[in-house]
Amino acid sequence: MSLLSVIVPCYNEEENVPFFYEELMKNEAFFKEKALEVEVIYINDGSKDGTVAEVKKLHEKDERVHLVSFSRNFGKEAAMYAGLQRSKGDYVVIMDVDLQDPPSLLPEMYSYIEEGYDSVATRRVSRKGEPPIRSFFARMFYKLMDKISQAEIMDGARDYRLMSRQMVDAILAMTEYNRFTKGIFGWVGFETKWIEFENVERVKGETKWNFWKLFKYSIEGITAFSTVPLTIASFMGVLFCIIAFLAIVFVVVRKLLFGDPVSGWASQVCITLFVSGVQLFCMGIVGQYLAKTYMEVKNRPIYLVKEEL
Ligand code: UDP
Ligand code: MG
Repeated sequence: MSLLSVIVPCYNEEENVPFFYEELMKNEAFFKEKALEVEVIYINDGSKDGTVAEVKKLHEKDERVHLVSFSRNFGKEAAMYAGLQRSKGDYVVIMDVDLQDPPSLLPEMYSYIEEGYDSVATRRVSRKGEPPIRSFFARMFYKLMDKISQAEIMDGARDYRLMSRQMVDAILAMTEYNRFTKGIFGWVGFETKWIEFENVERVKGETKWNFWKLFKYSIEGITAFSTVPLTIASFMGVLFCIIAFLAIVFVVVRKLLFGDPVSGWASQVCITLFVSGVQLFCMGIVGQYLAKTYMEVKNRPIYLVKEEL
């Protein structure tokens, strides 16, 4: 028998917890056929509703259900990491509890693992049901990431992924504090099969992401997997030095040829404002990396556990 670990991060999802279990266990025949044992690890990411109680109910009914409960909300990245750490399976899959990652795709995903792939990843080909502005910025982000980082990230990639033990161990070896799992998946490499599906809207409850959170998440992704912004900052520095040099030559020559009429206050102000803007912007970029480094150096735990079943 092989063991399949299912990792399910949950944050205020009391309605979805039992629903998800039911939907997952519709694959029971498939698990039997492939001689797969299953363990389901619900990670309660500091929920304030009855999520823990719901998981406990399932745990009493079915001993394959496990619970890891955080002391507060640490975010989905931390939840996934905790789940991966606890998984014992030969294969591990990460799924959202809101059924936006359809468990019905599992047999197809597993068939590719049998073919020899190390991991099977999923991406949404449509984003229906999502605000258009959000989709637009998401697309831009994936395009940008693709250009500036080594971690291959597909447009519409989800965290829904079936992986071999070998790949899970590689991911666990990356112990960074600022975790951008989508990038980590790509960074560790291994042979990945991508399968596509139409966007599914979440069954119950609401998304935990708003525009601001997504923006911060994208900055996280960029700073974690690319230093191109730093290069841009130094490039701008060089560019402005060249411009300054040319301007100095121009001003000196003009002074020598035509004397010194006192004028040019307007242009002076424009230049000062513009250049100090660019300076602050570049300092901001450096600051972002410094902040991430600071958090990394502190070496704080990625999550804290309150209860485990
Ligand atoms: N989630 C979590 N911690 C958080 C936010 C979300 O564990 O701080 C879980 C959430 O319960 C769900 C998954 O991560 O299972 C995806 O969240 P959501 O559906 O809100 O994101 P979306 O599908 O809209 O991208
Ligand atoms: Mg969702």
